[in-house]
Amino acid sequence: MPEHEAPDFERCSVCGRTALRGERLWDYVTPPGEPRRVCALCKVHAEAASWLPAELAAARLHGAEARPSRARALRERLARVAESARARAGEVGEGNGSPPRPEPSEHRSPAVIAPPVPEDPHRLARQAIDRFNSSDARRTVAGLMRSLGEPQASIQLANGGGRATVTVAWELSWYQWAVEPGAHGEVREVSKGKETDELSDDARRWNGRVTDDGSLRLVTA
Ligand SMILES: [Zn+2]
Repeated sequence: MPEHEAPDFERCSVCGRTALRGERLWDYVTPPGEPRRVCALCKVHAEAASWLPAELAAARLHGAEARPSRARALRERLARVAESARARAGEVGEGNGSPPRPEPSEHRSPAVIAPPVPEDPHRLARQAIDRFNSSDARRTVAGLMRSLGEPQASIQLANGGGRATVTVAWELSWYQWAVEPGAHGEVREVSKGKETDELSDDARRWNGRVTDDGSLRLVTA
């Protein structure tokens, strides 16, 4: 197979990367017959897309009429090359001449695939807080505040944001509610106690604030 030292700024037809000084590119021919130059890392992808090494393509062109049996043997060999290249590339090339996608991650051009966007935890927390504030729990907290003063408060998300735990704590008593975010989510008192030491570290991460009417607010750092 012919190899060439790439002149400056020559690009691989598959990955589009500019060849490094001294890096070799290989000559290929697409099924419609267009010449392509391919870097070493992309040869497998070129072959998976049924691009032919230029030398073999030329041999097929010149030998086809004169020696049909040799041409057939060559076609079979090329089919095997393409087949094994496809298996290595883990993809099925259609042989339509469209550029194959490079696979190795360190060789890929800058990322084009956006990562999945996770649910915004602050949005879920705010939904849970809205639900808490529209429930009887808010009036319970407001009533306790009249005798106990201003509490500390926290909200923790659990279950991938499907449930929140609201903790409201004074010096000598605390209450916890489980809240399902959403307009009709359930709000229910699940625990209460005296000392804040009884609470988990997460529950004591005081990321909330309670206003005079018992409404919970998220404190953003
Ligand atoms: Zn390449």
